[in-house]
Amino acid sequence: MKKLPFYASGLKFSCKRCSSCCRYDAGFVFLSENDMNSLASALKIDTNVLLNLYCRWVTDFRGEEVLSLKEKSNKDCILWGVCGCTVYDSRPLQCVTFPFWESIVSSCENWELAASGCPGINQGKLHTKNEINENMKMRDQQPIIKREAFKSGIEKRSFRSTGGE
Ligand code: SF4
Repeated sequence: MKKLPFYASGLKFSCKRCSSCCRYDAGFVFLSENDMNSLASALKIDTNVLLNLYCRWVTDFRGEEVLSLKEKSNKDCILWGVCGCTVYDSRPLQCVTFPFWESIVSSCENWELAASGCPGINQGKLHTKNEINENMKMRDQQPIIKREAFKSGIEKRSFRSTGGE
């Protein structure tokens, strides 16, 4: 019989808007094609401009080069503004689905480790097992852009031109 995940009874999380996951520390915000299109629309720029001005290639834990947002010299996310996230309604899937990432909910230890850096974890709304699994499924459906795949498919990119001004 398949073992139930440690979160079979659900997990509590409500964001406290403390912003510590968006600023102060170095980190990666990985991007999918859907994220690129949504961000370009929100910023009213072309996806190629977005790529050049706001994105960088970084090496993930598997040693693969993948696309991430840049960060400012003070380590704030490049899309952080004086009033908070400047693209909140179009923020990347990684931000939308936090903390229900496979790497975090893979074990109780990883969940508690994440809780040590996020005051919203283990507080507030109870999210069911199905909701948590749905979050992870979204990541599977919207994979992070890998540099190798990007280079090989560069001439048939499906990035949408937003006709930015
Ligand atoms: S660290 Fe947690 S509580 Fe703070 S903004 Fe990020 S998700 Fe919200």
